[in-house]
Order: sequence, then C-alpha cells, then structure tokens
Amino acid sequence: MRRPIVVMDEELSGKIAAGEVVERPASIVKELIENSLDAGATDILIELENGGKHSIRVNDNGEGMEREDAILAFERYATSKIRTFDDMYTIHSFGFRGEALPSIASIAKCEILTRTRESPSGTRILLERGVITEVIEAGCPVGTSLHVRDIFYSTPARKKFLKKDSTEQAHCIDAIVRLAFAHPHVRMRLVTPKREVLDVPGTDNLNERISIILGEDLTKNFIPVEKHDGNIRIEGFVSKPVFTRSNTKGIFYYVNGRFIRDSLLNNAIMTPYRRVIEARRYPSAVIFITVPPEDVDVNVHPTKMEVRFSNPWSIHSAVVKALTSSLADVALSSDMSHFYPSGTVKTLLPEYRQRVRESLKRYTVMSGSKTSFSGHQHGVHRGDGTEQIQDYFMQDTSSGQAVTFSSLRYLDQIAGTYLLFSAPDGAILVDQHAAHERVLFEQMKSTCREKGGEKQTLLIPEVISLTPADYIVVKDHCAFLNDIGFEIEGYSGNTVIVRSVPTILSDVDLKLLIPAIIEEVEKTGRSTGIQEVRDKILTRVACQCAVKAHHKLTRVEVEGLCRDLDAIPFASTCPHGRPIFIKFDTRDLEKMFRRK
Ligand code: ADP
Ligand code: MG
Repeated sequence: MRRPIVVMDEELSGKIAAGEVVERPASIVKELIENSLDAGATDILIELENGGKHSIRVNDNGEGMEREDAILAFERYATSKIRTFDDMYTIHSFGFRGEALPSIASIAKCEILTRTRESPSGTRILLERGVITEVIEAGCPVGTSLHVRDIFYSTPARKKFLKKDSTEQAHCIDAIVRLAFAHPHVRMRLVTPKREVLDVPGTDNLNERISIILGEDLTKNFIPVEKHDGNIRIEGFVSKPVFTRSNTKGIFYYVNGRFIRDSLLNNAIMTPYRRVIEARRYPSAVIFITVPPEDVDVNVHPTKMEVRFSNPWSIHSAVVKALTSSLADVALSSDMSHFYPSGTVKTLLPEYRQRVRESLKRYTVMSGSKTSFSGHQHGVHRGDGTEQIQDYFMQDTSSGQAVTFSSLRYLDQIAGTYLLFSAPDGAILVDQHAAHERVLFEQMKSTCREKGGEKQTLLIPEVISLTPADYIVVKDHCAFLNDIGFEIEGYSGNTVIVRSVPTILSDVDLKLLIPAIIEEVEKTGRSTGIQEVRDKILTRVACQCAVKAHHKLTRVEVEGLCRDLDAIPFASTCPHGRPIFIKFDTRDLEKMFRRK
C-alpha cells in the first residue's frame, strides 16, 4: 500500500542524523536504487555517463508517485516512510530521512518522470539548484525514472574532488553490487554509452546471484555459512582459506539487509581465518546478519553505513562461531580439496609430494651445484636487512665447513608450522611456508632468466569470468599486460579470454594467476617497471602455491624441501622478506640456561 509523503515536524526532523549524503556519483546511485527498492521495484536499470559525473539515470518499475507526492518528495524531510520517531526501529525500508532527493537536487540538475498504476498519465518535474522549474503531465510507464545531470555543476570546488571516470564508475559498481547481493529477486542492470556492464537477472537463489556478480570461479570456492545463535541469525558464504586477496574488497556484510561497515564485525570475520591465512591477506565473504530490529540503531550516520548495536559483543561472538564452524566442517572433511581452491589440482596440498618430487628433478637439472650456507657470503647484497640474519646464522660455521639444510637432522614439526632441526652447533627452526615460498619464487625467477620475456600461446584459450571492477582493471591495462606476456582481451560481458601467458607462468593455474595479476597491476600500476611487476606477480603466485602453515609434512617432504633450499641462492628470507629460519646457537642456549 502506497503511503502519502508527509513533511516531518521539527521535533522529528531534529532527531534524524543529519549530514551530507552526496559525496560522489556512487552516493547518488545508492540513494536512488534504495528508493526504487523501497518502492517495491523488481527491475532496476541504471545508466551512467562518464562514471556518473555527467549523467545518472535510474529507472524502476516500482509503485511510482502521484503528482502531489512527487512535488513534495523534493522537500527536505519529506518522506512516506516514517511518521514517528519510534517507526525508525521497526522500519524495513532503506530510507526514512527524507533527505536524499532534496540533497541531490541541490547539487545537480534533476528530472523525475513517474506514474502510479492507478493514474492514467504520469508527471514530469524539472529542478535546478533544488528549485522546481517545471511540472508537466507526461506519458510514461508505471514506475519512476530519475535523471541526475552535471553533478556539482554549481560548486566547482567539490567537482574538483571527483576522480577520473573509470574510478567513479568503479565506485558506482560497488554501490550497485552491494545492493544486488541483498536483493537477489530484483533484476539490476548497469549500462554505459559504450556497453552493458552488468545484467543480473532476478533469482531466488543467493548463490546464483553471487556467482553472476563475482564470477563462478570464486563462487566455486565459497562454503556456506548458516547458524542461529539465540536471536541472531548468520547466513551467507565465505571463501575457502586459500582463496584470499590482498584487500578487503571481497568482503560484504549486511545487518538486517543493510550493507554496513563496522570494525568489530571486520574483526569477527577475520578471527576464524587468522590461523589459516597469511598476514595481510583477506577472504571473500557475503554474510547476512539478522538481529531483532530493536537491537540495532540505524540512525547513527546520514548515509546509514554505520549502525549501533545494543549488544555488539554477542553479535561478534555469533559471527566468529558461525564462520569457525563452517571452516572447521570443511577442514575436517576427508576430501581436503574442499579446503583448497577448486580447479587448482596442480597446487593442491595432497599433491605436494608430487610437486616436491618434480621441482627436485628440475633443480638437479637446473642448478647442478649445491649452494652451501657459507657460499652465501659471496656476492649477496640484497639490501633488505636479510644479510643480518644470514650473518647471524653463519657466525659459527666459520670453521670453513659448508653446512646444508640437507645435512641437518630433522626432529619434528612444531605448531604444525615450524620444522625443528638439530644442527652441529645448536637448533634451527624453519618456517615451512616461508621456505617453500622462497623455493618456488627462486625457481620461477631462474626460469624467467632463461626464458626472458618469452610468452606461450595457450593451446585452448582460457575464458575467465571476472567481477565488473576487475574487468575494468584488465581493460585499462591490456597493453601493459601484453608487455609482460599476457595476451588478454575482453570476451563478452565481464569475461576475458586469455590467449597467451609468460612462459615462466605457463604451469600455474590461470584461475589463481589472473586475480593475482589484477591485484598487483591495480596496486602498482603502469608507472612501475615490467621487472618489478613481474617479480610481484611471481611472489604472489609462489605464496599461493606454497605449502601452508598448519599442514603436517612427512619426513620425506621435509627432506625434499631441504634439498630444494640447498639448491637456491637466497635461502634466508621468503620473497616477502620474512625470515625462513631462525637459529638457536648452542652458546645462546647455554646463556639462557645460565651455564655460562
Ligand atoms: P526517504 O527515502 O528517506 O523517504 P528520499 O528523499 O529518498 O527520502 O525520498 C522521498 C520520498 O519520495 C520517499 O519517501 C518516497 O515516498 C518517494 N520516492 C522517492 N523515490 C521514489 C521511487 N523511485 N519510487 C517511488 N517513490 C519514491
Ligand atoms: Mg531515500
């Protein structure tokens, strides 16, 4: 039932969290889509020009407005959604402040075209500088179309803060995607004059929606979350621990259907992952948290991106418990492939044995000679502080005797992560992940030296589905990617086709490689040298493929790793600069036990 729009009295408007909602085109896109959703739309079409800076149009098939309501809608504090302050705690709509339309009309030229089902004709209203300049009767379909042009045209100072078109468009996509996850049944489309960026059909199935937006490759690596904890319900999907990224862009969470940001919830989502993923890596997640409406205050921030919980820690603990049990279910299942990315057979841990064997073969062919620890002293100037660790390690091997990892006596694995060895003059702990990472990195670099910038054409070009944002990164960097050996082109929608890859990376699963490359290219950009970006990509790939912490290695695997370490030049730190091993000198042990 459509309710008429009413302007709030001063007492009520005074209690509403006030402030600016329009910061950039994406804020407008968000407010307009929320209005369409509140109006019961099932089909929303968003049209953007110049990343929304020049023009934003949002068309919906919602309930529309009568002429008088449409005129009122642009008044400050005019809303059909709340009547009293208490309504705010029970509302199910996104809006309630009655501020979006007047704020938008004050900074851009607006035109609204709207019609209700009951009315034979629609209404067109034009506004400039927040003032209505024209109201006319007009033919139009049932629903509302809002056209916003020339954002910040009257405030050039604010216009200057807008970023380049592709950046603003990426922000708009983010805003659309956030809303799209929470409303799977609503069709959402985004078009620009150049192309259709997004077309997600309505569905009852959240998984299907996520898969259309984030790409099937990622969704295959999602595990479901579903948990009730008292009156808190948590559901959605989270990524397997190996499917991580270097930023939090893949994390979406909602409280009572609203996308929000909250540092305590960030922490709750990261907690179950901490032990199983690398530092500064983040999972992907789409999580819906449902709490009784009276336990959450949405009237904290004008954009409603922050909320206040009456009992934040109970929500924190519910999220931690829900995610932990989902991740644990997967870890306990006998089929470990659940825990590792699907489609990455080459890099699965169960295949680790095989991999060690293979790489061992390659090393023997490649390097021929064994590098001893004392051998490191020659010509090693990494300038990253690692010499110190090496020097420390070598203090007592100055007897001139070369010591190799293989010659150490392996004792046991500590905390599922550190390999303990007895050395002639003390004890050595090796971080298995860091060590393996360095081995893979050096191996790839060495092949890189041999094969240089060679690229290998794929027998069957690979088609990979990307998120709309990642697609733009690839489009923007096609030429650069080509320079470093990747021939990638847009295929259809948001999928790309990969025709060739650098020869050194031809063994790596493309589904792991492409996201890694996108992240690195996005972070480092074109300004950096080819070699540097290539090294960064190699580092990422090595990290993805290396054996993880908390994985039990057999004695044979440890021996293989030691031989690998002996075969590479820089065995003291991982490619990220973390130490690979730490030595406890007998003399230090004696000091600790106060024997000396
Ligand atoms: P709020 O959403 O907080 O109520 P807005 O300024 O966003 O405030 O919108 C004011 C009013 O205009 C809404 O309460 C609603 O009644 C009406 N309205 C806005 N957009 C639409 C739309 N797309 N379809 C139908 N009604 C709309
Ligand atoms: Mg609104």
